[in-house]
Amino acid sequence: MSQDLSAVQKKPVGRLAPSPTGFLHLGHARSFLLAWWDARSRGGRVVLRIEDLDRERCKPQFVDAARADIEWLGLDWDGEVLVQSRDLAPYERACEDLIERDLAYPCVCTRAEIAALSAPHASDGEQRYSGACRGKWRTPAEARAATGREPGLRLAAPDGPVRIVDRLRGELEFDVQREVGDFLIRRRDGAMAYQLAVVVDDARQGVDTVVRGEDLAPSAARQALLHARLNLPRPSYAHVGLVVDEHGERLAKRRGDLALAELRAAGVDPRAVAGWAARSVGVSCGERPRAQELLPHFGLGPAAAAPAKLSAADLEALRRST
Ligand SMILES: [Zn+2]
Repeated sequence: MSQDLSAVQKKPVGRLAPSPTGFLHLGHARSFLLAWWDARSRGGRVVLRIEDLDRERCKPQFVDAARADIEWLGLDWDGEVLVQSRDLAPYERACEDLIERDLAYPCVCTRAEIAALSAPHASDGEQRYSGACRGKWRTPAEARAATGREPGLRLAAPDGPVRIVDRLRGELEFDVQREVGDFLIRRRDGAMAYQLAVVVDDARQGVDTVVRGEDLAPSAARQALLHARLNLPRPSYAHVGLVVDEHGERLAKRRGDLALAELRAAGVDPRAVAGWAARSVGVSCGERPRAQELLPHFGLGPAAAAPAKLSAADLEALRRST
């Protein structure tokens, strides 16, 4: 019982983790507001992390825009901003550790070779890997010497279901081996994979509470395997429903008209965005609350698991809120 009490008393640490591969849109704004409200309303901390390991797609102007968007929404963060690309050593160390303990192995397969071998895709579009290189070489150096190719690195995923507990959805099960197979933790071009970096960073930033879109729920299972292999604590998850238009279509990143940078430039009132995001999870506090003003009213309940509709009328109301 005393253990339960200490768990209740511990203040959560949440995170905002934009990936600067494009401008953030209203879907991101909602996820960030919910994550911030969830941690802050319980007296917790919020850290900011720039997930910019994909050097080809990440651009400095998107980093600047993301920070400006977050500030515009009225959200703040604690401590230093962690920019993933600035120091790759923590990720390299995790990879070395996994290789040394035979939990990860080098893979020299090209994308085309993998595509030729496997048809099915996981629900989030990740292609399944057949395990062709499993057991062939222990270290990247061995694989390189044997093939003349630069290898990537894959985590050996066990057979059978991986369970995660979601605060909104209860127990979720994913068969990682069947859905994606042994997955990449370092790409062949040397770039660290999202899954590995997130696990390493959540641990070193002390993040124990993750609120994000449900499209990332399958990732939680892959991350759970990494948490277990690296002996790192697993955060609690709440995967919120995605924002859809009135036809039920997901908001895509390309939709320029929904970019926060564009709404900001048009003089839209960020409090109208906060009001919409709060109402989308059944929390009400006037039409145009400041993010801060929502805190006493906020609670993340099962309603947040449903898709959040952004109708043309909602969008029009936001645009008129100048
Ligand atoms: Zn391979």
